[in-house]
Amino acid sequence: MRIRRLKLSGFKSFVEPAELRIEPGLTGIVGPNGCGKSNLLEAIRWVMGESSPKSMRSGGMEDVIFAGTQSRPPRDFAEVVLQAETADGEELDVTRRIERGAGSAYRVNGRDVRAKDVSLTFADAATGAHSPALVSQGRIAAVIAAKPAERRQMLEEAAGIAGLHVRRRDAESK
Ligand code: ATP
Ligand code: MG
Repeated sequence: MRIRRLKLSGFKSFVEPAELRIEPGLTGIVGPNGCGKSNLLEAIRWVMGESSPKSMRSGGMEDVIFAGTQSRPPRDFAEVVLQAETADGEELDVTRRIERGAGSAYRVNGRDVRAKDVSLTFADAATGAHSPALVSQGRIAAVIAAKPAERRQMLEEAAGIAGLHVRRRDAESK
């Protein structure tokens, strides 16, 4: 699966509708402290069905909604759209929206779906809210400090090939 585009509105610090296009190759996100780089990664996790506010650095799920600043009122909802291309070359359009007091709603390719359906959509090892390919800021230090064998394990998990060794061992023991 390849993520092509991320659209955010009212999500955390992204109060105005914002769009991030992700072209093939390496995409870097740079900016001063607090500009919203980590919020972008959290938006990807969130639209894929993240259900733990803590891993979004939030107390409750509604805390992802723009909370307002001295000059701007808070928003009533947050919405994130993830546009991707599946391994089969199909377009995948996933929307998650949360409204104050009303919880989250999901749409896949324009149809209302359950949270469970979204989790299933991203169920393979290399995608999903808990994919090891999404390395949070705090874990970078762990990657650097790891012993070579541990680091290899982390990188293999991120590349989605860690499962291959298990399957190979299974095959060899037969
Ligand atoms: P660093 O370089 O320090 O890691 P960063 O670019 O990763 O910074 P983020 O952590 O993504 O920055 O963004 C933090 C900013 O997002 C803070 O200014 C915080 O106030 C703002 N923010 C987070 N949640 C909300 C919210 N619900 N409403 C408004 N602003 C929010
Ligand atoms: Mg950060």
